[in-house]
Amino acid sequence: MRLTKLYLNGFKSFAEPTHLIFERGITAIVGPNGSGKSNIVDAIKWIMGERRIKNLRGSVAEDLIFAGNDNVRRSNIAEVGVLFEDENEIEVLGKGKFSTVEVKRVLYRGERSFFYINNSRVLEKEAEYFFNTSAKLSKRYAIVEQGEVEAIALMSPREIARMIMDAAQVGVFLQNKVDAEAELADVRRRLEEIDPYLSEKKLIRDKLALEVEKKLKYQELEISVKRLMVGINLRKYKELKAELDSITERKEKLLLEIQSKKAESEMINNNLIEIGRELNDVIQKYEDVSHEKGEVEKKLLETNLKMKGHEREKNDYETCGNYIYCIKSHCVNGLQTKCYFTYAVRVR
Ligand code: ATP
Repeated sequence: MRLTKLYLNGFKSFAEPTHLIFERGITAIVGPNGSGKSNIVDAIKWIMGERRIKNLRGSVAEDLIFAGNDNVRRSNIAEVGVLFEDENEIEVLGKGKFSTVEVKRVLYRGERSFFYINNSRVLEKEAEYFFNTSAKLSKRYAIVEQGEVEAIALMSPREIARMIMDAAQVGVFLQNKVDAEAELADVRRRLEEIDPYLSEKKLIRDKLALEVEKKLKYQELEISVKRLMVGINLRKYKELKAELDSITERKEKLLLEIQSKKAESEMINNNLIEIGRELNDVIQKYEDVSHEKGEVEKKLLETNLKMKGHEREKNDYETCGNYIYCIKSHCVNGLQTKCYFTYAVRVR
């Protein structure tokens, strides 16, 4: 990416908003001593992440904010913005691809500074990452300080090598390496501190894993048991249903039988009633006949009595006859005949 614009507002001697445009080719900034040429370099260093105020020719951060003069009030904010442009779109911190990127650093009096990329607030590290990685500025830009040109001419080859390394910001990378190694050592130390805790947690995790395994096994077994129970219950249900069906069938048969027996019983009852009726008739007739028989027997008795009377009468007649015969035979003796006759009449 190419630096195309620099914007300063309230930064050091730049009290008013100032825009500097960098066209292709060489751009020279000229001015009398103390006009602020080096302040522009400071601004570029600052926006590119310089942390050491000493390197920006100051003692404290507030030295970067316009301090004011007889004519202009001091500023409470120092702003520096840079605009980068590229023919191709460049991925910016995973926030999308852009062909122009504006980076801004703002310092408020009494506060720390903040970075913005395309008007979104970012961390200092993110801005640094953008300059070093996305914009690849470390490979393309070098700041040669005032008076360094003369010094370069007088430098030994070793010093020149050192200067080139600085220009290529190898020093930054070396510092980064040292920082990273220190960070790594710190991380290792913390890891060592964490280790026993981690081992303890691992033990707990293993225990929990075992418990989870047991629980899962238990659940599996529970499901199997449920399935078996369902199977058993289903079989039992089928058996009971078959039994119930057979009982129902038997019950229906018995009901039919009961109905038929009932009909039979009703028929027998009807027959019995009929027979009873007939029996009553027979009894009635028997009683009638008995009565008749009594009557007949009575008549027979009377007849017998009569017959006996007739018999006696007959006997009497026969006796009378005998007497009459006697009388006849004894008529000869007149007196006696009269007597016998009387007797026969009396008998009758
Ligand atoms: P030379 O060519 O002599 O080095 P120069 O053009 O580089 O000069 P600078 O060093 O950039 O000039 O600017 C120095 C000027 O900036 C001084 O006048 C100084 O008072 C002014 N200055 C620096 N810091 C501030 C500030 N915080 N507020 C107001 N003015 C400031």
